[in-house]
Order: sequence, then C-alpha cells, then structure tokens
Amino acid sequence: MLISDKLNILGESARYDVSCSSSGSTGRDSGSFGSAAVSGICHSWTEDGRCVSLLKVLMTNHCEYDCLYCINRRSNDHVRAIFEPEELADLTISFYRRNMIEGLFLSSAVWRSPDQTMERMIRTLELLRDHHGFGGYIHAKAIPGASSTLIHRMGMLADRVSINVEQATTAGLKLLAPDKSVHSLAQPMLQLRDGRQEYKELMPRSQVKKQVFMPAGQSTQIIIGASSENDKQILRMSQKLYDDYQLKRVYYSAYIPINSNPLLPSIWSAPPLLREHRLYQADWLLRFYKFKSDELVSDANPELDLELDPKCAWALQHLDFFPVDINRADYQTLLRVPGIGTISARRIMAARRSHSLRPENLSGIGIVLKRASWFITCQGKYVAPFYPEASKLRFLLSDKAGRKRQDVRQISLEELQYHDTAN
Ligand code: SF4
Repeated sequence: MLISDKLNILGESARYDVSCSSSGSTGRDSGSFGSAAVSGICHSWTEDGRCVSLLKVLMTNHCEYDCLYCINRRSNDHVRAIFEPEELADLTISFYRRNMIEGLFLSSAVWRSPDQTMERMIRTLELLRDHHGFGGYIHAKAIPGASSTLIHRMGMLADRVSINVEQATTAGLKLLAPDKSVHSLAQPMLQLRDGRQEYKELMPRSQVKKQVFMPAGQSTQIIIGASSENDKQILRMSQKLYDDYQLKRVYYSAYIPINSNPLLPSIWSAPPLLREHRLYQADWLLRFYKFKSDELVSDANPELDLELDPKCAWALQHLDFFPVDINRADYQTLLRVPGIGTISARRIMAARRSHSLRPENLSGIGIVLKRASWFITCQGKYVAPFYPEASKLRFLLSDKAGRKRQDVRQISLEELQYHDTAN
C-alpha cells in the first residue's frame, strides 16, 4: 500500500479523536486553502498557549477491541492500514520541513496487544527525537493495558500524553467498551501524574520550570451521548480527573452515530453538539472559576440547561447571591457574575486600586453588560436600566435573546441609569 493511501486511511480514522480542536472540520471545501480536513492536519494549543498545526494520524486502525461507538472496532468491515515507524517518522519530518506542520498527534487502535502497539508508537517517537533530532510538539495517546515501562518511555518522549476514558461511569464503560477496564485507564494516568511530579522535584531550583517528563501534561476525552450518562456524572468525572489525576484538559466529544447497535443512539440521530458546547462551558468554570461540579448540576437537575450558559443558569438559581458590588467584591465573587471573566475581574481589581469605578467605566474594562448588568451594583446603585422578573431575566440571558435581539432592550452606555438597590 502506498504511504499516501495509508495517510488518507489513518488520517481519516483519527478524526474522531477531538483532542485537537480543528480536527475533522468538514465545513468548507476539503481541497480549499487552509482546510483542516485534508490528511489529518489539525491544530492544538501548547502549554504556553501557542496554536500549533499537527499531523494527526493513527499508527494503525487494526483493532483487537470492539468498542461499540468506534469506527475502528474489530467487527466493522473497514479498510485497514498500519504505518511502519520509519514511514511515519519520515512523513512527519517531510511535512515539517515543508512547513506544513509543527508537530505530531499520534494515536492508535490496539494492534495485536497494547504492548506491541505502544512499542511501534514509541519506536516512531524515538526515531523522531533521537535519529532526526526533532524537537517539535508531540501529543501521543497511550494504550490502556500497556506495561508501565512503555508508559514511562512515552512520557519521556512526548510533550503531552493522553488516555481516553471515553465513558464517565464504570457501567457505561462496561456496556460500550467491554475490552477496557477502569483499572487499565486509571493506572497509567496515575503513573503519568506521579512521574511528572517526581521529575519536577528532581529538577534543580534554577530549572524548576523545565519539565523533561511530559511537559504539557496529560489530557483525556469523554464521549457525550453514546450512553445514558447524564451531565452530572460527566462533570463529576471531569472534576475528579482535574483534582485527583491533575489532568490539564478534558475534551468532550459529541457522539457521531456511525455504528448501528441497540445499545447506541439511532444511526439517524444528530450528534449532541449543543450539549457538548455546554459541557465545555461548564468545564471552563471548573478549571478557571473555581466552581465545583455539584454547583452546576445536582440530583434534582442532572443535565445542564441547554438554553443558558452554565454560569447564567447558576446565577438564576442563586439570585440571593446578587447583586455584587463592583467596587467592593473580592476577585472570586466577581468571577461568579455572568459577563465578568477572569481578565475583566483582574482589570476591576487593578482599577480599584486607584479609583472607584463608575458605570461608564465598566464596558471599557471588558465586562459584558448585556449579561452582567442584571447582577451588579456600582456605587450603591443597580447598573441595569430596569430589574425584570425572573422569567424575563431568563429570556434576556438565554441564547434566544441573542437571536431575537430586536425584542430586547439594548443596554448602551447612554442608557445606563441608576436604580437604587433599595428600589
Ligand atoms: S480500542 Fe476501542 S476506541 Fe480504540 S480504536 Fe479500538 S475499538 Fe476504537
């Protein structure tokens, strides 16, 4: 088989892994300039926030396992291919030299056994790092069930390593991925976490920022909507992965119905993209706003509200927390206000050191007033031009309001009138 054919097959097979943000994009003509759909070029973000383009491929799509949701599963009648480590290393270097990519995202199905698959992947990475002297970004997927020696070796070679947990509960995993076990997923994640910590402690103080073991940390992916798991179970799992396993990132992948099975959603159903979007918003709140998963979803409301972003939904359920005074609230309290992000909260704290903020200062420091104004006071007075009843407020904060902007009174600086908090 020609290498270009292997690349087409294994680039296409890799597109269901969402750990690279632009992967699998099909919105534009796939042959057009800048398209992310061709032969597995995708984009990702490095530890220092740079966007890098990566060659995204599988080592092989031959798989011994039979995960129900996966296109590469053993029981699918599917064109299969496998790269030799030398082929893939040469391909990566030739793309790199032509300035098409800055790194590699390497995943794989399970060929023969987890160890044999990992050995091929590691051989590819060794060729890149040791033979070609490649210093670019490498994100590699570790294969659950591989030996700890191989997991460690991968951590030494790759910038980021990920192990996909795929399902948020043990029951979901048993049902849809019967060849995998919770232990085979958790064990390597713990090993990678501890390995990173050990190397960090070994570094001399002067080089403490230079991490040699998996410098960009580890990430994972959870599939959304393939099983009956609710958002509460998914966010609880994410919280655990951030707190206990020190993951850098959890990715959520709306299930694309590709396989027919009574345990899966209908082949005709649409991927739950809005749900995926809400989970990403909630995940952002966990990582940067110090929300806990139980604050966003509960036994009574186990699903995220699809009409509201999770922070607005939380605010509507906690109206007694508001109003927040812009000139007096601490940083964490400011972060709870819809329309105030980490940057605007920092700017508020900085500006307050020199002067008291006035309403006309607020949009200039990045506060999104169409959301925040209902929840804040400034110099003792409400910023919103009027205070709506709860159902109206819900509408004003919902995505529908964005679409029906003409129905909603726009808040401009000129309209900012004070309403006494006592009113
Ligand atoms: S192990 Fe499961 S998810 Fe991974 S490629 Fe094989 S069938 Fe797909």
